[in-house]
Amino acid sequence: MGKRILITGAAGFLGSHLCDKFVSEGYRVIGMDNLITGDMKNIDHLLKEESFEFFHYDVTRFVHVAGELDYILHFASPASPIDYLKIPIQTLKVGSLGIWHLLGLAKEKNARILIASTSEVYGDPLVHPQSEDYYGNVNTIGPRGVYDEAKRFQESMTMAYHRFHGLETRIARIFNTYGPRMRLNDGRVIPAFIGQALRGEDLTVFGDGSQTRSFCYVDDQIEGIYRLLLSNYSDPVNIGNPEEITIRDFAEEIIKLTNTSQKIIYKPLPADDPLQRQPDITRARNILGWEPKVSREEGMRITYDYFKGLTEEELFKSEHKDFAKHIKR
Ligand code: NAD
Ligand code: UDP
Repeated sequence: MGKRILITGAAGFLGSHLCDKFVSEGYRVIGMDNLITGDMKNIDHLLKEESFEFFHYDVTRFVHVAGELDYILHFASPASPIDYLKIPIQTLKVGSLGIWHLLGLAKEKNARILIASTSEVYGDPLVHPQSEDYYGNVNTIGPRGVYDEAKRFQESMTMAYHRFHGLETRIARIFNTYGPRMRLNDGRVIPAFIGQALRGEDLTVFGDGSQTRSFCYVDDQIEGIYRLLLSNYSDPVNIGNPEEITIRDFAEEIIKLTNTSQKIIYKPLPADDPLQRQPDITRARNILGWEPKVSREEGMRITYDYFKGLTEEELFKSEHKDFAKHIKR
């Protein structure tokens, strides 16, 4: 029988792709999600698989899973700036109470745990590109602090369990990743620009658009996480695509890709929006033998095709996800 793995955040963008990957590799997969930012449609196709089971559950509450467990992937957390600004306390809770419960579960089951950390631990970085030994520049009390500090705490807690309890732990510092199943209205730049292009609206660039990001296609990201989980390396590893672009140039690329005649309009830069971001992936190359393979051109074409396949209703549904109904008090 295959190894058994628990994946939190299973109905989200990355979580659902991870469920696909581990099911296809012969694992028995338990997905867990409270659906606050995720969507069952991302994993509907897996529900018929014998090797997949799903629990609708909030991991900020005590987490129990019956039976043995070999691995845990903790991916539950709001991940887009708009999401975590709208549900800041949930974001802090899942990064603190959530990780505490999952580390406890990992200890009880003697399971290896990998956590989804983020380039946001580097904040608005003063070092470029960012390598894992950079400690970061985070405004703890700014609006992004709820996410950044939760993720930093999550890393500290994970290392404490590793050192104190000898738990097998892995830390993936994930840089901006994109692809099919991102939520159209999550506010992240790729669904935002593609949605605007498809609706015939102008593209909203924040600030003067000179800030940079480096976008990684989801298949590459999933392969990096998979290799990290199976490695024997417990320090953090950056996983991302080092190809860097300004947001203004990226908006131009989207206009070309979507073959639309939209204009770019400029809106204020959100507080603490990092001005530059590019992963140094030397560690991932050396330790995991991993590097991204999918070019931005190819990845964006696949992603655009996915969004083109949405219904008119999905495309024009402008209201944000109703978070309140997913929060258990
Ligand atoms: P997502 O919003 O699509 O997925 C997150 C999932 O977690 C959702 O399905 C949501 O419902 C679930 N969730 C949130 N709180 C929960 C709780 N308390 N209990 C159970 N489930 C809960 O976001 P994503 O892009 O797939 O991100 C997944 C993880 O990867 C997050 O931890 C995020 O911080 C990390 N990450 C993502 C990126 C990226 O570019 N996508 C970059 C850095 C880090
Ligand atoms: N951005 C933008 N227009 C949008 C959405 C985002 O110019 O409609 C910018 C945002 O200010 C940031 C970059 O795009 O500089 C990436 O934003 P995203 O929310 O995708 O992720 P971040 O890397 O900031 O977490």
